[in-house]
Amino acid sequence: MLVSGGIRCFDLTPMADESHLDAKNFVANDVYNCAFCKRRRVTFTQAGHFQFEWTRDKPCHIWLLRCNSCQMTSLHLSFNDISNSEWKFQKGIDLDANIFYSVPTSVFVLDSRIPNILRDLIGEAEGCLKMNFLTGASACTRKAIYELTLHEKAEGDNYDEQIKSLKSKHPEIPSELFDVLAHIKDMTSDKVHEQSWDKWDSKHLTLFIQTLKTILQELYVIPKERDQRTQEIRGLLQGVREKQKKSETDSSA
Ligand SMILES: [Zn+2]
Repeated sequence: MLVSGGIRCFDLTPMADESHLDAKNFVANDVYNCAFCKRRRVTFTQAGHFQFEWTRDKPCHIWLLRCNSCQMTSLHLSFNDISNSEWKFQKGIDLDANIFYSVPTSVFVLDSRIPNILRDLIGEAEGCLKMNFLTGASACTRKAIYELTLHEKAEGDNYDEQIKSLKSKHPEIPSELFDVLAHIKDMTSDKVHEQSWDKWDSKHLTLFIQTLKTILQELYVIPKERDQRTQEIRGLLQGVREKQKKSETDSSA
């Protein structure tokens, strides 16, 4: 409420949309979305800091953070020294951009309606990619695609047929997304579990991971959001009809 010239008035400016912060690990230098208790925007206490040599000339920092809600402690790594003289995170720093690996990995980046196994694999693939561990990132991405074909009961004897079957089962999803997966070289079902494939470079990995994330969003999130909105409209419609019926009954009485 604002007071202007002795007249009280309310600030009707709409609140800024900050929902993007729910998809981050860190919201501020002492607030995060806790991967243990799954609470969003809880404060944490910096419970410890260590430094070690990743290579001869590359130091790496470890921070232990304790959630002030569930009291569980998580571990976070960064190549940058992002703390002040008291080893607390500097104010205004983008912690997500600086921390390349966390244990446990964040569960907030992907929607909770996406099956856990796929969220875990993609979270791990992205973590490996941030660290430039391309073999690990490639393995997790391959396994995620394989798990997607299993979860969606894709039909066919080989990878090409399975992706084609997903594409025809889901005409509502832009076909280019499945085409990206279909064109992944060397991605046969036999090879998913073998070590006989080459790792992908970071550009290809980014493309495959983002494509997968978009497909998962289309498969498991968007339809449920649509259903929820339709249910809300049905509720409103029912209210209107009941009111109309009541006024008709009242006027005929
Ligand atoms: Zn917590």
